[in-house]
Amino acid sequence: MRTKAYAAQAATTPFAPFEIDRRAPGQSDVAIDILFCGVCHSDLHTARGEWPGTRYPCVPGHEIVGRVAAVGGDVTKFRVGQYCEHGFVATYNGATTGVGENTYGGYSAHIVVDERFVLKVSHAETDLAAVAPLLCAGITTWSPLRKWGAGPGKKVGVVGIGGLGHMGVKLSHALGAHTAAFTTSPGKVAAARALGADEVIVSKNPDEMAAHANSFDFILNTVAAPHDLDPFIALLKRDGTMTVVGVPATPHPSPNVAGLIFGRRSLAGSLIGGIAETQEMLDFCAERGLVADVEMIAMREIDRAYGRMLKSDVKYRFVIDMATLQNAA
Ligand code: ZN
Repeated sequence: MRTKAYAAQAATTPFAPFEIDRRAPGQSDVAIDILFCGVCHSDLHTARGEWPGTRYPCVPGHEIVGRVAAVGGDVTKFRVGQYCEHGFVATYNGATTGVGENTYGGYSAHIVVDERFVLKVSHAETDLAAVAPLLCAGITTWSPLRKWGAGPGKKVGVVGIGGLGHMGVKLSHALGAHTAAFTTSPGKVAAARALGADEVIVSKNPDEMAAHANSFDFILNTVAAPHDLDPFIALLKRDGTMTVVGVPATPHPSPNVAGLIFGRRSLAGSLIGGIAETQEMLDFCAERGLVADVEMIAMREIDRAYGRMLKSDVKYRFVIDMATLQNAA
């Protein structure tokens, strides 16, 4: 099916309207009319060729919320009209079996997906735009918070209050952990508290940091810029873990291993999450009315939005209203 989309034709050219072909739904496929698509930092890295291997034209977008338009004959989990979200399996820029082809993401009007990668959204209809970022920012923080046991009686820190970090604070707080947000700027303290942080620590202030030495069970580090990890490792209690989920363009300075050895502390990593735990996170959020803080944009505003993301000038995630694709030029 010919489908309207927005594509980058090269690393250095702005986005422009583009038509793609979506496959006809097969027996186990779900065809989705896309309503909203969140804008992840990885969209920018991929579209602008900052990570190796981008195939052009590139249609990014993996935080996709839409309505089921059609289902194949073997589909049992979904019916037409339901709201759903599309999971991450090289949603865009992935190799397909066709020669020279690649997958196209959510900056488009429709998508066809195997039902195994489709998730059910039970939030209120008015929340759907703000649900989109749960699919990447939400699950990327939920998965490590669950794995390392964030909950009542635990002290959890979240480093970096951006697209990922703001969800980390909300989810950690909702899971019942005593949640501290780390920020480099005193100007962001009030905003971090508003997200649900029980306390906010300005990480550039050594006195504030020292007051929390050896006290954290778990620290979720969402910062994708290279930085010194040692000051955060020093805040972990014995057997505590810091998990990083941001990939910096150049490596962090190597941590001082003594900080790990004394206190038997761990440094770990985590990547997004599986489909089952993504559904668990969506259901948890729906029950509590939890969503991302988003700023809606029209499709044609995408290049400007990327420019603002590079300055961290977004609270906290851009979401594209896909209705604006129809008259985007
Ligand atoms: Zn993402």
